[in-house]
Amino acid sequence: MRLRGVLRFHWARDVDEALSLLRAYEGKGAILAGGVDLARSARTDIEGLIDITGTGLSYVREDPKGLRIGATTTLSELLFHPLSREYAGGVIAETLRLVAYPALRNVATIGGATVSAHPWADIPTMLVALGAEARWRNEEKEEKASVEELYKTQFRGIFREAILLELVLPHWDGVFVFEKIGRNAGDIALLNVCAGLGLREGKIAWARVAVGARPERGERLPWLEEMLLGKEPDENLWKKAEEEVKERIKVGSDRRASGEWRREVAGVLVRRTLARAAGKAVK
Ligand SMILES: Cc1cc2nc3c(=O)[nH]c(=O)nc-3n(C[C@H](O)[C@H](O)[C@H](O)COP(=O)(O)OP(=O)(O)OC[C@H]3O[C@@H](n4cnc5c(N)ncnc54)[C@H](O)[C@@H]3O)c2cc1C
Repeated sequence: MRLRGVLRFHWARDVDEALSLLRAYEGKGAILAGGVDLARSARTDIEGLIDITGTGLSYVREDPKGLRIGATTTLSELLFHPLSREYAGGVIAETLRLVAYPALRNVATIGGATVSAHPWADIPTMLVALGAEARWRNEEKEEKASVEELYKTQFRGIFREAILLELVLPHWDGVFVFEKIGRNAGDIALLNVCAGLGLREGKIAWARVAVGARPERGERLPWLEEMLLGKEPDENLWKKAEEEVKERIKVGSDRRASGEWRREVAGVLVRRTLARAAGKAVK
């Protein structure tokens, strides 16, 4: 049985209350959002569950900094929100449609996905590619960092004492696309790629490419992004990108796929995402 030590369930009315409950449990409390991960947690030390879905963190808004997505926004709310469908060529909807299945997306939250950050997951790869910023609060102060930087730290420790408030996705003058390979619909990724391009006067003005489930969590390929800058987007360039990726990407084996397979498929998925992004960007 999972979570067998739980004694109490709290419905926090606001973030302050959730934080003070978290502190009162001295490490034996856990923030609960959609609960799809927490329900499977092997942790036996959790005594109090603190539900934050009523704390006002479910929203999608746009302002000059970008798209602001509250941490308890469910994946379905985000997928069907008009603002996210318009954002960066529709990459949010494209990615979330490939995350598990509707019943799970109806309860799982973007904050839970960001904090859980499974290495095989699609959402971290998308957030890293998009340059998302995370904002969180502990009892003393509010802090922020890019999700990419956050994932280089012991971020799970941070969220034992803090609440992720929102994600801010910057505006991009260009488009992103997402591709995933799993064994069947609804399966987790054997590999995923999120890539974005901006074009100026027929040349690549910026490029962002992140590859996840390698089996490590999604990371950008800065050497590839640099190689693409200033080039004309055409089939030869995508072929070169595929070859470079096959040569240089760091991949590994696990029980789901071999490193050899991942290397090959990473090249193909990068070529496909770049070609598709360029096609969408010129429209
Ligand atoms: C069967 C299954 C299939 C899946 N398939 C995919 C997939 O195809 N692609 C993909 O990308 N992902 C997939 N996932 C991962 C899924 O997206 C995440 O598990 C889910 O989004 C977690 O959200 P939640 O709201 O349920 O989190 P919860 O279970 O409520 O919380 C997860 C963790 O985050 C902490 N937490 C949650 N919210 C906050 C917050 N605001 N501040 C601080 N801490 C917080 C909790 O304490 C807990 O440790 C899958 C998961 C499952 C169970």
